[in-house]
Amino acid sequence: MDRQTEFVLRAVEERNVKFIRLWFTDVQGFLKSVAMAPAELEGAFAEGTGFDGSAIEGYARVFESDMIARPDPTTFQLLPWRTEASTARMFCDIALPDGSPAMADPRHVLKSALNKAADMGFTFYCHPEIEFFLFKKPIIPGQMPEPLDMAGYFDHTTMDDGTDFRRDTVMMLEQMGISVEFSHHETAHGQHEIDLRYADALSMADNIMTFRVVVREIAAQQNILASFMPKPFTDMAGSGMHTHMSLFEGDRNAFYDATDEVRLSKIGRQFVAGLLAHSAEITAVTNQWVNSYKRLVGGGEAPAYVCWGRNNRSALIRVPLFKPNKPSAARIEYRAIDSACNPYLAYALMLNAGLDGITRELPLPDEAEDDVWALSERERRALGITALPRSLDEAIDAMESSELVAETLGEHVFDYFLRNKRAEFEEYRAQVTPFELRTHLPHM
Ligand code: GLU
Ligand code: MG
Ligand code: MG
Repeated sequence: MDRQTEFVLRAVEERNVKFIRLWFTDVQGFLKSVAMAPAELEGAFAEGTGFDGSAIEGYARVFESDMIARPDPTTFQLLPWRTEASTARMFCDIALPDGSPAMADPRHVLKSALNKAADMGFTFYCHPEIEFFLFKKPIIPGQMPEPLDMAGYFDHTTMDDGTDFRRDTVMMLEQMGISVEFSHHETAHGQHEIDLRYADALSMADNIMTFRVVVREIAAQQNILASFMPKPFTDMAGSGMHTHMSLFEGDRNAFYDATDEVRLSKIGRQFVAGLLAHSAEITAVTNQWVNSYKRLVGGGEAPAYVCWGRNNRSALIRVPLFKPNKPSAARIEYRAIDSACNPYLAYALMLNAGLDGITRELPLPDEAEDDVWALSERERRALGITALPRSLDEAIDAMESSELVAETLGEHVFDYFLRNKRAEFEEYRAQVTPFELRTHLPHM
């Protein structure tokens, strides 16, 4: 038994833990949980815990349904909101009965990408800016939801009813070992942002899953509704999950070069070039819902075109101006990804897209210095700026022909994802919307 496992068994005893929740994530990015009695824990560490994989979205078909969840002891954490009976959680890796990793497990997909980065000598670090909305209850289907407050970007007023919400969320995250860098009101009414301090990509994907749970727990305590839906309002900004990324070689930031104009190393430039080259193909995963594309329309500080810039918030990738004497802070920001993605799959693809740029030594295209939303189609074409997919449908098409996405996700997840998303788009396509009723019905 390794030391980490021993530590967990001891902690369960000393803290009088009554329930241990085993957490894992389905292919769409929803958290799954099974609670286990402490007496079962040693067995679960040794052999895992069996479950019906065919009942998990994207995992398995009924005739191959047995799967095993193996808790990762390094992710042991008490759940601060379970005060009556002490409860802890661990994230799990999913295995098949023969012990091999389940290809459907998003954590496995990310781990494979991280192993590839490690073979190239890199550790991948991320930090997300997570945006979300708070609404008053009740939410009545068919009616516009009412935002919790009428405040805007960085507002500090009593109008901002979300201040206590953010404080409580940040405090609970910190209690669970998740460091927060910033929190503030965002542009839209009822919209908030919390930025997590950087961590390796696997810990960060786990942290994002925990973040979503914590936000919903605090919302439940305060009798409000929290939502990560990418674009609830036509006329207000949507919720992105801009992610800052860097590669380290040992303790040296491989993206930093003091002599470069934008202080980005050759590796950093190639990484950005790779991301740009594959951005359309990975969008079905970074922006996986029909609603995601209502956010990527150009405006609201959400990208719609494939380009990079330094201080340009219309660009897909931004190279933030970092402090010149702080090489560790050199990073790039990917701005398409939204708060309702599966973070394991999205981060695996963003990483592999960048690594492909390094492997193929792709040159970085010129920087976009204009507001690319304001340019005409012809001007953009002259600058070589293409569009991101404009709908889930277009995104699926781009994904389907991508070798990089197929390789990164593995055949199982790739096929399931395409099938599932096509079905979602077809269902959506058949809907008669309030827009049509409003604009057509009276005049036709
Ligand atoms: N809400 C914007 C988006 O959807 C981002 C605003 C910001 O720059 O933080 O991407
Ligand atoms: Mg923001
Ligand atoms: Mg940002």
